[in-house]
Amino acid sequence: MTIQQRTVKAAAELDGVTQKYRNRTALNIDSLTLLKGITALVGPNGAGKSTLMSILSTARRPTSGHVTIDGIPTTTRSHIVDARRVIGYLPQGFSVDTSFRVADLVAYAAWLRGIPGEEIPDATKKALEKVDLIDRSRDRIKKLSGGMLQRVGIATAIVGEPRLVILDEPTVGLDPRQRALFREVIRGISNAAVLVSTHLIDDVDALADRVVLLEDGEVRFNDTLETLKELAPAQHSAHSDLEAAYLVATSQ
Ligand code: ADP
Ligand code: MG
Repeated sequence: MTIQQRTVKAAAELDGVTQKYRNRTALNIDSLTLLKGITALVGPNGAGKSTLMSILSTARRPTSGHVTIDGIPTTTRSHIVDARRVIGYLPQGFSVDTSFRVADLVAYAAWLRGIPGEEIPDATKKALEKVDLIDRSRDRIKKLSGGMLQRVGIATAIVGEPRLVILDEPTVGLDPRQRALFREVIRGISNAAVLVSTHLIDDVDALADRVVLLEDGEVRFNDTLETLKELAPAQHSAHSDLEAAYLVATSQ
């Protein structure tokens, strides 16, 4: 490891993390480090993506192992509170009280994360500008389209500029135009470490600097997008090199 690498503080580090549901192991990760930039989390349904994301968000305590967020070991209650200040999390299929107004929901998310009260209005405005919903600030959530609702969810995850942004399947249900807008939003927050789960290979190709591939709760691949593409065989019948590479990496 070079000196430079050592001085870069990881946004998140997992060490020996396992999650068991009853007797079944849903996640088993020796070690995983998330750095600044966009990391796509991919893998079949049931691979453990949402479990991994909820553990990283500190919403779930793993069965065993250590989670360190921005240098903070999440061992005590007060450490977890500190860690949550730097984490933005959009759970899969998030649901909200639709009678909330857009800006109030985002402000509430900021408050939950411990952002000081006097900073919340400005942070809320910035987050809504990023997702291009500033004109809708006073609208009630129930008046929004699905794509807009998804963007409000992203605003709740990025308000206050957290160092670690975790978005679980944020493009589900979006049409192509909304997906393009979503990608623009994500590129605009790449100063953070952004972990995005998706089952759309197109999202990965358009967005990711790095790819983590999970299967059966284990990391099968963790490297750059380019390195993943190199796994594609010279001849294949998949739709793209990336899709072919994905099939190689998951066919164990
Ligand atoms: P993914 O997000 O990749 O589809 P999940 O993390 O949701 O995967 O699920 C991983 C595995 O753990 C699946 O087999 C799923 O059925 C199981 N699982 C997830 N959440 C729970 C839970 N709360 N209780 C029991 N089993 C669960
Ligand atoms: Mg999931």
